[in-house]
Amino acid sequence: MSAVAAPAARGLLLTFDDRHVREWDAVRPLLREYDARVTFFVCEPDRLDRDERRLLRGLADDGHSIGCHGLRHRRAPGFIAEHGERAYLEQEVLPCLAELRALGCRADSFAYPNSDRDERSDRLLLTLFSRLRAGAPGAGRADPALADALHVPGEEIASRRVLPSTSADTGRGAALHGSDLSGIEASLTRASRQGGFVTLYVHCVSDGHPHANYVTPDHLRRLLGRAAAVDLPRLGFDDLPPTSKDCATDA
Ligand SMILES: [Zn+2]
Repeated sequence: MSAVAAPAARGLLLTFDDRHVREWDAVRPLLREYDARVTFFVCEPDRLDRDERRLLRGLADDGHSIGCHGLRHRRAPGFIAEHGERAYLEQEVLPCLAELRALGCRADSFAYPNSDRDERSDRLLLTLFSRLRAGAPGAGRADPALADALHVPGEEIASRRVLPSTSADTGRGAALHGSDLSGIEASLTRASRQGGFVTLYVHCVSDGHPHANYVTPDHLRRLLGRAAAVDLPRLGFDDLPPTSKDCATDA
Protein backbone atom coordinates (compact mmCIF):
# COMPACT_ATOMS: atom_id res chain seq x y z
CA MET A 1 0.00 0.00 0.00
CA SER A 2 1.35 3.39 -0.92
CA ALA A 3 2.07 5.84 1.88
CA VAL A 4 1.09 8.68 -0.41
CA ALA A 5 -2.60 9.37 -0.90
CA ALA A 6 -3.80 9.40 -4.48
CA PRO A 7 -4.20 12.94 -5.78
CA ALA A 8 -7.73 14.22 -5.36
CA ALA A 9 -9.91 14.13 -8.45
CA ARG A 10 -10.11 17.70 -9.67
CA GLY A 11 -10.23 19.76 -12.79
CA LEU A 12 -11.48 22.70 -14.78
CA LEU A 13 -14.05 21.62 -17.37
CA LEU A 14 -13.90 24.46 -19.87
CA THR A 15 -16.58 24.17 -22.53
CA PHE A 16 -17.31 26.00 -25.81
CA ASP A 17 -20.83 26.22 -27.22
CA ASP A 18 -22.65 26.40 -30.55
CA ARG A 19 -20.68 26.06 -33.80
CA HIS A 20 -17.85 28.58 -33.97
CA VAL A 21 -15.56 25.89 -35.31
CA ARG A 22 -13.17 28.16 -37.23
CA GLU A 23 -12.61 30.40 -34.21
CA TRP A 24 -12.16 27.36 -31.96
CA ASP A 25 -9.64 25.90 -34.36
CA ALA A 26 -7.67 29.16 -34.22
CA VAL A 27 -6.98 28.70 -30.48
CA ARG A 28 -5.58 25.19 -30.78
CA PRO A 29 -2.05 26.51 -30.09
CA LEU A 30 -3.28 28.32 -26.95
CA LEU A 31 -5.00 25.17 -25.68
CA ARG A 32 -1.85 23.18 -26.34
CA GLU A 33 0.28 25.78 -24.57
CA TYR A 34 -1.77 25.29 -21.40
CA ASP A 35 -2.00 21.53 -21.81
CA ALA A 36 -5.76 21.98 -21.92
CA ARG A 37 -8.34 19.54 -23.06
CA VAL A 38 -11.77 21.11 -23.36
CA THR A 39 -15.26 20.21 -24.55
CA PHE A 40 -17.00 21.61 -27.62
CA PHE A 41 -20.79 21.41 -27.38
CA VAL A 42 -22.00 21.61 -30.97
CA CYS A 43 -25.43 22.60 -32.25
CA GLU A 44 -26.55 22.57 -35.92
CA PRO A 45 -23.82 20.10 -36.92
CA ASP A 46 -25.71 19.52 -40.19
CA ARG A 47 -24.96 23.14 -41.12
CA LEU A 48 -21.19 22.79 -40.81
CA ASP A 49 -19.45 23.07 -44.14
CA ARG A 50 -16.87 20.56 -45.28
CA ASP A 51 -13.99 22.59 -43.87
CA GLU A 52 -15.65 23.02 -40.50
CA ARG A 53 -16.28 19.29 -40.29
CA ARG A 54 -12.62 18.65 -40.97
CA LEU A 55 -11.60 21.18 -38.30
CA LEU A 56 -13.98 19.70 -35.73
CA ARG A 57 -12.54 16.29 -36.44
CA GLY A 58 -9.08 17.79 -35.87
CA LEU A 59 -10.13 19.15 -32.48
CA ALA A 60 -11.38 15.69 -31.51
CA ASP A 61 -8.06 14.23 -32.71
CA ASP A 62 -6.25 16.66 -30.37
CA GLY A 63 -8.00 14.91 -27.48
CA HIS A 64 -10.82 17.39 -26.93
CA SER A 65 -14.31 16.13 -26.16
CA ILE A 66 -17.18 16.81 -28.55
CA GLY A 67 -20.66 16.97 -27.03
CA CYS A 68 -24.19 17.56 -28.22
CA HIS A 69 -25.95 20.93 -27.91
CA GLY A 70 -29.13 20.18 -29.88
CA LEU A 71 -29.88 20.21 -33.58
CA ARG A 72 -31.60 23.63 -33.52
CA HIS A 73 -30.67 24.94 -30.09
CA ARG A 74 -34.19 24.52 -28.76
CA ARG A 75 -35.01 24.92 -25.09
CA ALA A 76 -35.69 21.44 -23.76
CA PRO A 77 -38.48 21.92 -21.16
CA GLY A 78 -40.64 24.11 -23.40
CA PHE A 79 -40.25 21.86 -26.43
CA ILE A 80 -41.07 18.75 -24.42
CA ALA A 81 -44.11 20.39 -22.82
CA GLU A 82 -45.45 21.43 -26.21
CA HIS A 83 -44.54 18.47 -28.42
CA GLY A 84 -43.71 15.58 -26.09
CA GLU A 85 -40.59 13.65 -25.19
CA ARG A 86 -40.49 11.51 -28.30
CA ALA A 87 -40.70 14.50 -30.64
CA TYR A 88 -37.94 16.23 -28.69
CA LEU A 89 -35.62 13.27 -29.05
CA GLU A 90 -36.51 12.64 -32.69
CA GLN A 91 -36.33 16.24 -33.86
CA GLU A 92 -33.76 17.84 -31.63
CA VAL A 93 -31.44 15.29 -30.06
CA LEU A 94 -31.06 12.11 -32.14
CA PRO A 95 -30.33 13.88 -35.46
CA CYS A 96 -27.66 16.00 -33.72
CA LEU A 97 -26.13 12.88 -32.19
CA ALA A 98 -26.18 11.07 -35.53
CA GLU A 99 -24.34 13.93 -37.26
CA LEU A 100 -21.67 14.09 -34.57
CA ARG A 101 -21.21 10.34 -34.46
CA ALA A 102 -20.93 10.24 -38.26
CA LEU A 103 -17.89 12.50 -37.76
CA GLY A 104 -16.45 9.90 -35.41
CA CYS A 105 -17.20 11.90 -32.25
CA ARG A 106 -18.30 10.12 -29.09
CA ALA A 107 -20.84 12.79 -28.16
CA ASP A 108 -21.41 11.25 -24.75
CA SER A 109 -22.48 14.48 -23.04
CA PHE A 110 -25.09 17.16 -23.63
CA ALA A 111 -25.18 20.88 -22.79
CA TYR A 112 -28.59 22.47 -22.36
CA PRO A 113 -29.22 25.41 -24.73
CA ASN A 114 -29.73 28.53 -22.58
CA SER A 115 -29.08 26.27 -19.55
CA ASP A 116 -32.84 25.64 -19.61
CA ARG A 117 -33.69 22.29 -17.99
CA ASP A 118 -35.98 20.54 -15.56
CA GLU A 119 -36.17 17.13 -13.91
CA ARG A 120 -38.16 15.67 -16.77
CA SER A 121 -35.62 16.73 -19.39
CA ASP A 122 -32.77 15.43 -17.19
CA ARG A 123 -34.42 12.04 -16.87
CA LEU A 124 -35.04 11.82 -20.60
CA LEU A 125 -31.57 12.94 -21.71
CA LEU A 126 -29.77 10.75 -19.19
CA THR A 127 -31.09 7.76 -21.11
CA LEU A 128 -28.77 8.89 -23.96
CA PHE A 129 -25.89 10.75 -22.33
CA SER A 130 -23.48 10.11 -19.46
CA ARG A 131 -23.55 13.72 -18.30
CA LEU A 132 -25.53 16.91 -18.80
CA ARG A 133 -24.28 20.46 -18.38
CA ALA A 134 -26.75 22.75 -16.60
CA GLY A 135 -26.57 26.31 -15.31
CA ALA A 136 -25.75 27.43 -11.78
CA PRO A 137 -28.39 29.69 -10.33
CA GLY A 138 -27.47 32.57 -8.08
CA ALA A 139 -24.06 34.08 -7.69
CA GLY A 140 -22.39 36.12 -10.42
CA ARG A 141 -18.86 35.71 -11.69
CA ALA A 142 -17.51 38.40 -9.37
CA ASP A 143 -19.13 36.88 -6.28
CA PRO A 144 -16.99 34.58 -4.08
CA ALA A 145 -20.20 32.62 -3.31
CA LEU A 146 -20.00 31.35 -6.89
CA ALA A 147 -17.48 28.78 -5.64
CA ASP A 148 -20.28 27.09 -3.68
CA ALA A 149 -22.69 27.07 -6.62
CA LEU A 150 -20.13 25.58 -9.02
CA HIS A 151 -18.25 23.16 -6.78
CA VAL A 152 -18.63 19.45 -7.48
CA PRO A 153 -16.52 17.52 -4.94
CA GLY A 154 -14.04 15.11 -6.48
CA GLU A 155 -15.51 12.11 -4.69
CA GLU A 156 -18.93 12.88 -6.18
CA ILE A 157 -17.90 13.18 -9.81
CA ALA A 158 -18.86 9.60 -10.70
CA SER A 159 -22.36 9.98 -9.30
CA ARG A 160 -23.11 13.58 -10.33
CA ARG A 161 -24.52 13.40 -13.82
CA VAL A 162 -25.84 16.97 -14.07
CA LEU A 163 -23.02 19.47 -13.64
CA PRO A 164 -23.58 23.13 -12.77
CA SER A 165 -21.80 25.72 -14.90
CA THR A 166 -21.53 29.43 -15.45
CA SER A 167 -20.53 31.74 -18.27
CA ALA A 168 -16.96 32.94 -18.61
CA ASP A 169 -17.65 34.92 -21.80
CA THR A 170 -16.23 38.41 -22.18
CA GLY A 171 -19.36 39.82 -23.79
CA ARG A 172 -22.23 39.46 -26.18
CA GLY A 173 -22.40 41.78 -29.17
CA ALA A 174 -21.83 45.32 -27.90
CA ALA A 175 -22.45 44.37 -24.25
CA LEU A 176 -19.55 43.48 -21.97
CA HIS A 177 -20.10 41.07 -19.08
CA GLY A 178 -17.53 42.66 -16.79
CA SER A 179 -13.89 41.78 -16.32
CA ASP A 180 -14.07 40.91 -12.60
CA LEU A 181 -13.63 37.15 -12.51
CA SER A 182 -12.98 36.88 -8.78
CA GLY A 183 -15.87 34.45 -8.24
CA ILE A 184 -14.63 32.19 -11.02
CA GLU A 185 -11.08 32.43 -9.74
CA ALA A 186 -12.24 31.54 -6.22
CA SER A 187 -13.97 28.48 -7.71
CA LEU A 188 -10.77 27.32 -9.40
CA THR A 189 -8.74 27.77 -6.24
CA ARG A 190 -11.27 25.86 -4.14
CA ALA A 191 -11.46 22.99 -6.64
CA SER A 192 -7.71 22.68 -6.59
CA ARG A 193 -7.34 22.85 -2.81
CA GLN A 194 -10.28 20.66 -1.81
CA GLY A 195 -10.46 18.38 -4.85
CA GLY A 196 -13.36 19.03 -7.13
CA PHE A 197 -14.55 20.19 -10.51
CA VAL A 198 -15.59 23.53 -11.97
CA THR A 199 -17.47 23.78 -15.26
CA LEU A 200 -17.40 27.00 -17.29
CA TYR A 201 -18.82 27.84 -20.69
CA VAL A 202 -17.83 30.27 -23.42
CA HIS A 203 -18.88 30.60 -27.05
CA CYS A 204 -17.00 32.18 -29.95
CA VAL A 205 -13.34 33.08 -29.38
CA SER A 206 -12.78 36.55 -30.78
CA ASP A 207 -11.88 40.11 -29.85
CA GLY A 208 -15.49 41.02 -30.55
CA HIS A 209 -18.62 39.77 -32.28
CA PRO A 210 -21.56 41.68 -33.75
CA HIS A 211 -24.20 39.58 -31.96
CA ALA A 212 -22.91 36.32 -30.47
CA ASN A 213 -21.45 35.59 -27.05
CA TYR A 214 -17.68 35.61 -27.24
CA VAL A 215 -14.56 35.31 -25.13
CA THR A 216 -11.43 37.20 -26.12
CA PRO A 217 -8.20 35.23 -26.55
CA ASP A 218 -6.69 37.32 -23.72
CA HIS A 219 -9.51 36.45 -21.40
CA LEU A 220 -9.22 32.77 -22.34
CA ARG A 221 -5.50 32.89 -21.61
CA ARG A 222 -6.23 34.42 -18.21
CA LEU A 223 -8.65 31.60 -17.31
CA LEU A 224 -6.31 28.86 -18.47
CA GLY A 225 -3.38 30.58 -16.78
CA ARG A 226 -5.27 30.81 -13.52
CA ALA A 227 -6.15 27.10 -13.61
CA ALA A 228 -2.51 26.26 -14.37
CA ALA A 229 -1.28 28.54 -11.57
CA VAL A 230 -3.35 26.67 -8.98
CA ASP A 231 -2.40 23.33 -10.59
CA LEU A 232 -5.94 22.47 -11.64
CA PRO A 233 -5.92 20.08 -14.64
CA ARG A 234 -7.79 21.26 -17.73
CA LEU A 235 -10.05 18.40 -18.76
CA GLY A 236 -12.76 17.51 -21.24
CA PHE A 237 -16.01 15.78 -20.30
CA ASP A 238 -14.72 12.54 -21.86
CA ASP A 239 -11.76 12.62 -19.45
CA LEU A 240 -14.07 12.27 -16.43
CA PRO A 241 -14.49 8.88 -14.76
CA PRO A 242 -17.44 6.85 -16.02
CA THR A 243 -20.73 7.63 -14.33
CA SER A 244 -22.74 5.18 -12.34
CA LYS A 245 -25.67 5.25 -14.74
CA ASP A 246 -28.13 3.97 -12.17
CA CYS A 247 -27.68 7.04 -10.01
CA ALA A 248 -30.61 9.31 -9.56
CA THR A 249 -30.27 12.81 -10.96
CA ASP A 250 -29.33 15.33 -8.36
CA ALA A 251 -29.25 18.69 -10.10
ZN1 LIG B 1 -25.81 27.57 -27.11
